Amino acid sequence: MLQPALPSAETLKALETVPNMYLILSPDLYILTASNTYLAAIKTSREKIVGKHIFEAFPDNPNLPDADGMQNINASLQKVLQTKKPHFMQIQRYDVPDENNPGQFIQRYWDPSHTPVLDEAGEIQYIIQLANDVTEKVLTKEALAESSGQLHRLNDQLDDANREIVSANQELNRTVDALKFSNQNLEAQVGDRTAELASTIEELAASNEELAATNEELLAIQEDLYNLNTNLYESEQRFRSLIEYAPLPILVLKGQDMVFEMVNEAMLQVLGKSTSIIGEPLFKALPELKGQPVIDNLYHVYETGEPFSTDAVQVTLERNGKDEICYFNLNYRALYEGGTITGILQAAVEVTGQVRAHQAIVESEERFRTMAESSHVLIATSDETSNATYFNKAWIDMTGRPAKYMLEYGWADLIHPEDKEHVLNIYLSAFNEKRPFTSEFRILSATEDYRWLLSKGSPRFHPNGTFAGYTGSSIDVTEQKLDEQRKNDFIGIVSHELKTPVTTIYAYLQVLQGKLRKTQDAFILTALDKSVTQVKKMTTIINGFLNVSRLESGKIYIDKQRFDMAGLVKETETETATMISSHQIIFAPVEPTFVIADRDKIGQVINNFISNAVKYSAPGSTINIACISFDGQTQVSVKDEGMGISQKDIQQLFTRYYRVEGTHTQTISGFGIGLYLCSEIIHRHGGKIWVESEVGKGSAFYFSLPLADKGLV
Ligand code: ADP
Repeated sequence: MLQPALPSAETLKALETVPNMYLILSPDLYILTASNTYLAAIKTSREKIVGKHIFEAFPDNPNLPDADGMQNINASLQKVLQTKKPHFMQIQRYDVPDENNPGQFIQRYWDPSHTPVLDEAGEIQYIIQLANDVTEKVLTKEALAESSGQLHRLNDQLDDANREIVSANQELNRTVDALKFSNQNLEAQVGDRTAELASTIEELAASNEELAATNEELLAIQEDLYNLNTNLYESEQRFRSLIEYAPLPILVLKGQDMVFEMVNEAMLQVLGKSTSIIGEPLFKALPELKGQPVIDNLYHVYETGEPFSTDAVQVTLERNGKDEICYFNLNYRALYEGGTITGILQAAVEVTGQVRAHQAIVESEERFRTMAESSHVLIATSDETSNATYFNKAWIDMTGRPAKYMLEYGWADLIHPEDKEHVLNIYLSAFNEKRPFTSEFRILSATEDYRWLLSKGSPRFHPNGTFAGYTGSSIDVTEQKLDEQRKNDFIGIVSHELKTPVTTIYAYLQVLQGKLRKTQDAFILTALDKSVTQVKKMTTIINGFLNVSRLESGKIYIDKQRFDMAGLVKETETETATMISSHQIIFAPVEPTFVIADRDKIGQVINNFISNAVKYSAPGSTINIACISFDGQTQVSVKDEGMGISQKDIQQLFTRYYRVEGTHTQTISGFGIGLYLCSEIIHRHGGKIWVESEVGKGSAFYFSLPLADKGLV
């Protein structure tokens, strides 16, 4: 399965400055980046969270036993990963670590949404988590709920008080009845109870006292009732002013006609209306809403009491004297009086910033694709596992294969069989070290012929430094290649044609030297010596060009045999002893090491190293030649105390016709083909060639080859 590429570093950089609160997550939920606004709001820095798993960076508040933010966010993300569709969440409590008090958390509420960004293949490339800090709004809402709870409690208290008044009244009635009864008894028995008058008067006095006490109680209850009414009024006032000054747009509709009972200033702005709509039915104030789906939802809230929300509703508002498109999430809640629904409270949360940020991200991706699609350069991307994730139109045009084919099979199968192994080796070793690479190869084109591509690959990294994959750009260099071919052919023909006359001149000069050995004419002898030296130089140059030309046309043959490298080095020692007297040349250590290789060509490499060491170091200085073996390899080195080579030049040294620019090298003859031939010979043996050097101190050239009998050494 192909993994989509993560967004480019530039895209992430650009997004970080968008003034909104969001995180960018990889499909495996690692934080790729966060907006500056987000970092400022939660008081943290990008380095602290980028590269971490979202729940490592933002764990649940451990002091909150029933914290479920992590679980809910994860459920939403899993849904997005499953459906590849945006998911908008209810408001969540998700506390953030308090940077100033380690181990402590700050209470926070968010209205998160998760939006996947898909690549051309429809795979999730990354997820945008937009989250608005709605803590204040939630706390305001809670205060509202608290206030209305208080209202309910007051009502309950009022009921209790009423019940108490009723029972007090009943008691009062009973007392009055008892009094009446006493009076009747008094009248009937006044005659014969004269004697008991005193005691009856006492009883009457007691009844009167009771009556007075009951009256006092009644007064106290009345006072309580008055206080309750006052509280009720104040609570209602508080509720109204909360709505009036709330920063988020709120309105209250009352009754089946949905009359505007309260509309705060923020909501009037959203609706584009004045306070004159208060008291008007909804359809009179906003006739355009008739028949709209939102109205069905309002009725549903009325009938069932179930809350209802609708997201990212587009509204055009006049801001700073201009019309501006804004987006709101709308929430509806039923309002109750005595257990029945009597109205609806609607609150709106502005999400313009989030919607715009999302649009900006989509637009930035779109811009990259438009640029890449309209370019003549072949552009492709791969992910961190080296899977191809994108090929632009130029690639599709070049190969004649549809994008789907290219993404599934890549480009490797289209490479010319002769170039394939070489190119893949370059690519894989660059990939392992995550460094840039350049290669040239032939690719099967739409017209079924091979075209030469010059390809450059650059590694991409996430802002946190982790490897994201490669971006490759290639251009068609077939015409240049053909020119080069023609040039090589020309050099080959000319060198070949020159070889016979130069060999003939050399032979005649040698005959002349033999014949004139005894002449007394010093000029003739010197002239002959100089001519022989120059013709030898010419032969070396012509041979060099012939070798290059043979190499280019694949006509160089490696004739392998088993031999001891120490023997070859010793032979070279004998030759150099007779030819070079300008330098002190030391051959040590020289260990016996058997290899299977082309003895003559390896000899050429050693001679080339030595003649360069002589050319590029001062007469009288020391040159050290060594041949050792370790790790199953033989290693030959030639060290000098010469001018050295800068790091910049070292990288190019083994390429054809490359010579270091400088005053020293200008005076020393050469064509820059010696090291190129050496490197081709060593690479064709499966060996390695390299140089270590410091300017002004000297250079050491090395090559290594696999040993013939690895187990023996
Ligand atoms: P040539 O010597 O004919 O120019 P080579 O391919 O042998 O070509 O070498 C390429 C270049 O590398 C040289 O021009 C020289 O600048 C540099 N070079 C090679 N060997 C040495 C050395 N031992 N010390 C310093 N520079 C060197």
